[in-house]
Amino acid sequence: MSLRSSLALLSLACLTALPLTATDIAWPTSLDRASIRSPEDYLQPTVSGRLESATFGMVREEGKRFHEGVDIRPSACNGDGEPLDLALAAMDGQVAYLNPNVNGPYGKYVVLFHAGAELPVYTLYAHLAKIEPSLKVGASVPRGRAIGLMGHTSAGASPITKDRSHLHFEIGLILSTGFNLWYAGQAENKLSPNLHGLYNGQNLIGMDPLPVLGRPKVDILAVLRSQPTALTVAMRTGKTPDFVKRHPALVRGEASHAAGWYVEFSWQGMPIRWTVLDAASNQLPAARWRLQEIDQSQRTRLIQRKMLGVDGRSPGELLTQNVEILLSTAR
Ligand SMILES: [Zn+2]
Repeated sequence: MSLRSSLALLSLACLTALPLTATDIAWPTSLDRASIRSPEDYLQPTVSGRLESATFGMVREEGKRFHEGVDIRPSACNGDGEPLDLALAAMDGQVAYLNPNVNGPYGKYVVLFHAGAELPVYTLYAHLAKIEPSLKVGASVPRGRAIGLMGHTSAGASPITKDRSHLHFEIGLILSTGFNLWYAGQAENKLSPNLHGLYNGQNLIGMDPLPVLGRPKVDILAVLRSQPTALTVAMRTGKTPDFVKRHPALVRGEASHAAGWYVEFSWQGMPIRWTVLDAASNQLPAARWRLQEIDQSQRTRLIQRKMLGVDGRSPGELLTQNVEILLSTAR
């Protein structure tokens, strides 16, 4: 989604008809959503100063670097220039993960799980100055409850300066509950232990948060389904990937009859539609999986995102990784 259309959603929030089933959404900072008049009111761009760099997509380093969430600026700071804004739970949910240490690019961060949404999703709140001390993993958190204080913590290669304090907010899905085993099995990970378990960024796949945050009520499943298919993969496995079990709303066909799966991915690597392939299907690949079709209109972005190789035809590093993670519980 372009910056313009994302932002249009925000300004149109009050004019749009409410969906029949919907999840109540709170703006995830102290900023009053109704006060937003322009993108400058809530976006915190990178040092480039380009507002688009604060939004979701291939928006950094001339389209070469992906940003998996939205960066929301503080609405108020103290005399030292530190943000006074709280990070707030965007929906009713429970605490999935707390990282109180500054040991990665996200700094101190919180992950919430929203089992009551139309599709169970996770939200992530990063670069916090501090996490609300009363939060415990597994505890319920109502929408709008403070979960921390906005900050600029990050152990990334380029630190976030105080004047660029922001909440990095993500919404997405977990690829596999088998992630930890998959990670440990990768030779290149021997020297970098997985500090965040299932909540490692490689296992969390995000979608554009603005169509969700822009309205007070949203059908999360409808937003997820509105992402177009960018490429498709056929997998061969008689075992059901845990992703399928956790997201039955994304599945067509009877999982117990599956000899494999036809999976539609969005451009950023989210497996958004799964169709059962039975044993007689001519789409079943001879190997474990095969890249099937590519939407050529999305080719450039798919190459930049490494969903495709530089030739624009072969599977890219990210596609290979995501498929292997998805299949990690279906061996
Ligand atoms: Zn960010």
